[in-house]
Amino acid sequence: MIPTILPTYNRAPLSFVKGEGSWLIEADGRRFLDLGAGIAVNALGHAHPDLVAALTEQAGRLWHTSNLFEIPHQQELADRLVEATFADTVFFTNSGTESCELAVKMARKHFHEAGQPERTGIIAFAGAFHGRSTAAIAAAGSEKMMHGFGPLMPGFTHVPWGNHDALHAAIDDTTAAILIEPVQGEGGIRPLPDQCLKGLRALCDEKGILLILDEVQCGMGRTGRLFAHEWAGVTPDIMMVAKGIGGGFPLGAVLATEPAARSMTAGTHGSTYGGNPLGCAVGCAVMRHIAEPAFLAEVTRKAALVRQRLEGLVATHPDIFSGVRGAGLMLGLECRVPNTDVARAGHAAQIITVPASDNVLRLLPPLNITDAEIAEAMTRLDTAAASLEIA
Ligand SMILES: *Cc1c(COP(=O)(O)O)cnc(C)c1O
Repeated sequence: MIPTILPTYNRAPLSFVKGEGSWLIEADGRRFLDLGAGIAVNALGHAHPDLVAALTEQAGRLWHTSNLFEIPHQQELADRLVEATFADTVFFTNSGTESCELAVKMARKHFHEAGQPERTGIIAFAGAFHGRSTAAIAAAGSEKMMHGFGPLMPGFTHVPWGNHDALHAAIDDTTAAILIEPVQGEGGIRPLPDQCLKGLRALCDEKGILLILDEVQCGMGRTGRLFAHEWAGVTPDIMMVAKGIGGGFPLGAVLATEPAARSMTAGTHGSTYGGNPLGCAVGCAVMRHIAEPAFLAEVTRKAALVRQRLEGLVATHPDIFSGVRGAGLMLGLECRVPNTDVARAGHAAQIITVPASDNVLRLLPPLNITDAEIAEAMTRLDTAAASLEIA
């Protein structure tokens, strides 16, 4: 008999009833160090007092009005994001998938209104992940995600990650945009070298097409900059955001330049919940922390510490791990044994990690994890690896 919850997940047999900073706690009091952060969502850890205050204060006042009316916290959050980034304008969504939908619509509409309606094609990359809608799975092009769900939205082509010639060959008169994650998340924590992102920007300018960045996982401070593309010193035309921006409240956004977004006039897009008062109250509180230069500098400092400790872990357990990859606090341990086995051994050692493709184990801790917690995490990862060596 089918379970009462549609069984699309292989869930771990763990059930948490409480969160405190970098810790998740089971009903029996067992404490797990959380290096998954709800898949890079709980950027400020669990139950951060400022986020709890922002949410509960708003909850006591007003939950929802729809976008038929002005929403002060939505305006504040949009203004903050515009001030802190390349963007001129923001649309709020509830998830990364919805941000993907709008990014694609915006790119197509842009060229339609620009008198080039034939430009509808989006070029994406092997190993990408952009969400689970029929457009987002078509964008990612993974057989595993697409199988049986056709017909999918047409107009997406895929080129191998890092293949310059294939990318050039894929661009033609029907291309509207290039869509890429500055650091692939689900695909196995693969950072795009700064030089490549610069090259993509130049290529888009040369061809007159748009650059769409998916910063759903790598954005919001994860790499030590507010957004990962800032390291390369170039900016996109359109950017998808979600995950960390709500700190655990479902919130996403599409940020865009005025030229890219101009065609999105009244009635062309909408969302019942997107940018709702609860989400934006929390989003403002998240931004107040993460956009602070001192906070981002701490992310970079701690990232170097974690990375150094992970290199040591790899050296100590060469039969379990083969290397470390990633950027900032978006790190991947390359595994020699199935990454799911390592994740399970981690559960026994009371530490949470997240498997990704390419047999990589993702470490996506809360960005405000402490040095002591980092040290504890390394001890627990060491215990987990040692348990697999004995087995
Ligand atoms: C998680 C993710 C998405 C999809 O976000 P949802 O909120 O699950 O819809 C899209 N792109 C990237 C890079 C992601 O990591």
